[in-house]
Amino acid sequence: MENGGLSVVAVRKMKLTPKAIIVQKFGRNAQFTVDEVQDVVQNGCPGLAIPQKGPCLYRCSLQLPEFSVVSETFKKKKDAEQSAAEKALEKLGIDPSPNVPSAEEAWDKLIASVKHLFSNEFLSSQSPLRGHFIAALRRDGDLYGSVPASVIAVCDSKLANLCKLINPKVESSHLLVLTYIMRAATRLSEFVVTSEGQLSIWRKDLYPPEIKESSIIQQSESPDSICIEAIHIPSSLEMAVHPVTLNVSSTGYYLDVIARNLDQTDGNKILVSSRTIGKASSEMRLYFAAPKSYLLDLSSDLPNVEEVVDFEGSLNPRASYLYGQDIYGDAILASIGYTRKSEGLFHEDITLQSYYRMLIHLTPSGVYKLSREAILTAELPMAFTTRTNWRGSFPREMLFMFCRQHWLSEPVFSTCSNSLKESSESSRFYEKSAALESAETGKECTSGGGTAASDNVRCEVKIFSKSRDPILDCSPKEFYKKQNESIENASLKVLSWLNAYFKDPDIRLEKLNNLVGALDIQCYPQNFFKKFSSYRFIHNVQQRKMGEKLLQANSINTLNAIPEHGIYCLSIGGPDSGIYPSNGCLSFISYSVSLVIEGETMKELLESREEFEFEMGTGAVIPQVEVVTAQMSVGQSACFCKELPPQELILAAADDSARTFSLLSSRACCLEYHITLLRVTEPPEDRMEQALFSPPLSKQRVEYALQHIKESCATTLVDFGCGSGSLLDSLLDYPTALEKIVGVDISQKSLSRAAKIIHSKLSKKLDAAVPCTDVKSAVLFDGSITVFDSRLHGFDIGTCLEVIEHMEEDEASQFGNIVLSSFRPRILIVSTPNYEYNAILQKSSSTIQEDDPDEKTQLQSCKFRNHDHKFEWTRDQFNCWATELAARHNYSVEFSGVGGSGDREPGFASQIAVFRSRTPPEEDDLLKDGDSAHHYKVIWEWDGNGLSRSSL
Ligand code: SAH
Ligand code: MG
Repeated sequence: MENGGLSVVAVRKMKLTPKAIIVQKFGRNAQFTVDEVQDVVQNGCPGLAIPQKGPCLYRCSLQLPEFSVVSETFKKKKDAEQSAAEKALEKLGIDPSPNVPSAEEAWDKLIASVKHLFSNEFLSSQSPLRGHFIAALRRDGDLYGSVPASVIAVCDSKLANLCKLINPKVESSHLLVLTYIMRAATRLSEFVVTSEGQLSIWRKDLYPPEIKESSIIQQSESPDSICIEAIHIPSSLEMAVHPVTLNVSSTGYYLDVIARNLDQTDGNKILVSSRTIGKASSEMRLYFAAPKSYLLDLSSDLPNVEEVVDFEGSLNPRASYLYGQDIYGDAILASIGYTRKSEGLFHEDITLQSYYRMLIHLTPSGVYKLSREAILTAELPMAFTTRTNWRGSFPREMLFMFCRQHWLSEPVFSTCSNSLKESSESSRFYEKSAALESAETGKECTSGGGTAASDNVRCEVKIFSKSRDPILDCSPKEFYKKQNESIENASLKVLSWLNAYFKDPDIRLEKLNNLVGALDIQCYPQNFFKKFSSYRFIHNVQQRKMGEKLLQANSINTLNAIPEHGIYCLSIGGPDSGIYPSNGCLSFISYSVSLVIEGETMKELLESREEFEFEMGTGAVIPQVEVVTAQMSVGQSACFCKELPPQELILAAADDSARTFSLLSSRACCLEYHITLLRVTEPPEDRMEQALFSPPLSKQRVEYALQHIKESCATTLVDFGCGSGSLLDSLLDYPTALEKIVGVDISQKSLSRAAKIIHSKLSKKLDAAVPCTDVKSAVLFDGSITVFDSRLHGFDIGTCLEVIEHMEEDEASQFGNIVLSSFRPRILIVSTPNYEYNAILQKSSSTIQEDDPDEKTQLQSCKFRNHDHKFEWTRDQFNCWATELAARHNYSVEFSGVGGSGDREPGFASQIAVFRSRTPPEEDDLLKDGDSAHHYKVIWEWDGNGLSRSSL
């Protein structure tokens, strides 16, 4: 056995597809026939019935001379064919992996392949390696004709694949390929020469002159001399990453130039990263000096190559992190090399900015920021609501990217359907072996016509290292209507968890688990930290350096600050248009971010966008931008300052990274944001209520309340959960007996809008000749309606419109009890969505909005009508709740609603309960709650004389 004393290791299966084997064996005698299957049968995942649009499943029958087989159904023709072939192989008793060479055979092939490289023919081949062989013939002196083994190892994927067959560890240890190639060369002593301490190979005999001449002439058509911008990454974190210029003369060999920049005599002592960095198409690689011990070890004939590499040099954390494998000593990142296509040298400049972009591209939030081209503004969202509202790369896509970049295996998704709800706990998981399969089917499902059926798909994700060690699992408990939704949500959970680590790599695991406890992650700490520890190291040194340069918060003007959000010097300007973004809607802003330098009037523009949109309430932008945008109305502009984010983000955003870097390291700085709110789209609930009902559903609710106010001659009204005051505002337009109106809400933002709107309405009425309202007093309270406040006891009428579904169910019950036992209004009107009506809304919204295909999925993929809804009840559920509540507190209750009809299925769009106290008013006073505490805070008050007091 001629394998250089190598231990024979498990051979990885080489993939010859089942179909290829059948075709090889039977040729034309194998007939594959693919049929479309009309109905939805189980597509490899029993119980999962996702309705499909039109026929899109395939089944393949394979006819062989002796017998025939039929495959299961698949979404893709080629999968059906493979499945049929697989079945046939099983029948034939053929193991589908017979053609894989053994480790010994691979070793023999490797030696033969290396030999071929040094043949005459190779100089006229198409291989990218050819360029190196020709360049070697132009090297001077001792180096003449010597080809660095490191380029052989990385430029020929066939050689690397053979090495993987010899030893699967090659996959995760790039330097092993080099070792095998050097060893193969020592077996070829009649043709090539290797020498001690040299990482290169020479051909023994000279090339025939005519072959040599013609090759060299071809190559030297390139220009005289080229200058390439590259990046120097010192191994010491104390030293900055900086640009270097590689000056390659037309007769020089670029690897020798790189070597000199790394203080090495020549390219034969340089190692090259086996994988390109950044885009797949790039030639960007890391170059670093081979440690001396490594050079010596190569020539010794140690029995086990796996253990030879013992670097005494210092680890280069930044280069290792960028590459995903250990790199020692200083490194150069350059994009240069011979390619198959071009005759000359391919090369591209790498700027510092592109280096920092590559760096941040390794973190989940960095991938997202780059995909949105908003490094200083966008942030990986915390929630995946709908495909329509998501912007930038999708979570599944980003997770694949993350795994690829960190040399992890592809994420494995397993989806599980739960058509029988009762079996949800024990429901079996149907592992779809290929991550791709379920992911792709997920993609295809997006336009499927979702029925009103309950959510029934759930998805698990598992992340493994290349050697299949588990890194983390995510098993969300939530079910979704569509497979695709479950996949995106699970992917986002994994990304969010990883992101928490990358934000603060010192975080202790328990803390990380607590912090993102809702993410249903199980982490395998040993494997996880083994993989990601180098990042922690880099992060810490950088944080320490930055800490010294931070502009202290107290030296920034704290006027109009919201320090808890890290916002300083906030100013919002422009007229209030009354149109505010709320959660679930898309905000369109234009913005710019500049670096403000202490003691300088000049600002350095870092990032700006004419139009940038994001979904409110999901954390799709940095918190400061979201908080400020939520306070703006359409047309207004805002300006504020915040502390600096991590340095690599600023440098990735800055066009002139070198200048920015020197500013950052010499002066105190902060970031200044300018934002203009261009427009907002309403959340789906509002849009639907306006589009489908005339008058809009919200108006109908107001009119319904108004009718009861008039009939009851109420003089006092409290609106529980008044929001932005739409009811209170509208009431002022009608003549009623109302004298005092009060609103309560927990949202300060909504209350301040309500205050503005009601104030301006009351002021106008005051000036009007014939005021149509008798309202003399109006108060807005900040407080939770689940807590009693004696100032609101015994009002004539209480309203609570579309509020309870925004609380958890137990809080809704708590509110019910408190309002009827303590607040005790004579009449209470409660409205909430009728869940059964959603089916109609979904159907109609897809017909009325046919022009926008994306719109269709909006409501369907939203579990409830609004993302903030914690529940939506059927008529039965609401009736039970209200009937039981009324009985307990001596109220009567009647049911009604608005939108649609109470007589026809499925009832009203908004269901309403009207409670009336059965206790006579005089007795009611005796029942008055002893608690006279004031738990609410007055936010704004109007006293009837045009005077108002506001504590906002
Ligand atoms: N009634 C208004 C607003 C409905 S939106 C309308 O019909 O337009 C629901 C409102 O309930 C929000 O403004 C929210 O802040 C408020 N809310 C939710 N939980 C609350 C609680 N526990 N106490 C007071 N208000 C609450
Ligand atoms: Mg609501």
